[in-house]
Amino acid sequence: ARASERMLDSFIYTPEVGEDISKHLALMADVSDSIDRGDFVMHYQPKINLSNNTIIGAEALIRWHHPTIGWIPPNQFIPFAERSTLILKISEFVLHEVIRQTAAWQQQGIYIKVAINITGHDLLRPGFSQMLFDLLQHYHVDGSFIELEITEGTLIEDMDDLIVKLLKLSKAKITVSIDDFGTGYSSLQYLYKLPVSLLKIDQIFVKNLPDDQGAANICAAAIVLAHKMGIKVLAEGIESKQHLRSLRELGCDYGQGYLICKPKSADDFINWYQDYMSDEQSVG
Ligand code: C2E
Ligand code: MG
Ligand code: MG
Ligand code: MG
Repeated sequence: ARASERMLDSFIYTPEVGEDISKHLALMADVSDSIDRGDFVMHYQPKINLSNNTIIGAEALIRWHHPTIGWIPPNQFIPFAERSTLILKISEFVLHEVIRQTAAWQQQGIYIKVAINITGHDLLRPGFSQMLFDLLQHYHVDGSFIELEITEGTLIEDMDDLIVKLLKLSKAKITVSIDDFGTGYSSLQYLYKLPVSLLKIDQIFVKNLPDDQGAANICAAAIVLAHKMGIKVLAEGIESKQHLRSLRELGCDYGQGYLICKPKSADDFINWYQDYMSDEQSVG
């Protein structure tokens, strides 16, 4: 009950929430307890270099195993958590868990760069970068093994503040990518103003390759634009050999998707990783 009261204090009603509000309020009330109980876990999906098939890193994706509902995908709680202080608790769990896991793999001699999903608003919250630096120090993980994927569902007004925060992160060798490029707010402004090293093309454009000329044009233009700015490009949602072929033809640097590997639990991911490393690396 206390969790839901606290949540109500900070919940900002927006029309998008619509009639699902009571359902989501009830769900959000469970977040805190669920984190404490360990119902949240991170899954990992590899990112590969499309020109030589080497693994360039992995993306950490949160999973919630709710005690009565079962598995709930992030799209059904992250956007709501972002409207309250609950996202802070989730982000704290995610940062801690990912950095702990990255350190544990390094102790086994496996060095993987892991990407964490956040919003620009997370980054602007007081204490966020400090929490990240403290965790890196605590687990003896170098900043160069952490990447932040920024998605924007809401407009960031204080770009200057965001730039200052990102420059601080880049001093610690943490890299930043723009997630879901082509959807949401101010993608071009982000690309223009922020110190980013990777642009991730949203899967809605990839999914219609190669037949949809409009989608192909957007991918081609995003790749040219990023390359002109000295930024690498990754395509999300690669599900078929045709997707892979057309992205290679378009000069896309990196890729991610079910064709290569679905997101997996830490143990399953590392088994996949070790198999992949011992095979001749080929996804087609
Ligand atoms: P995202 O960061 O753009 O992540 C990509 C989503 O596409 C993931 O969904 C992934 O499982 C899915 N995906 C990967 N390959 C394919 C494919 O080939 N085909 C299709 N159809 N889908 C593919 P997921 O895990 O459900 O996450 C959805 C979104 O939730 C993420 O989008 C991200 O914005 C958010 N999210 C996930 N984990 C976290 C987290 O730890 N913190 C925060 N703040 N947001 C998260
Ligand atoms: Mg992402
Ligand atoms: Mg994305
Ligand atoms: Mg997304």
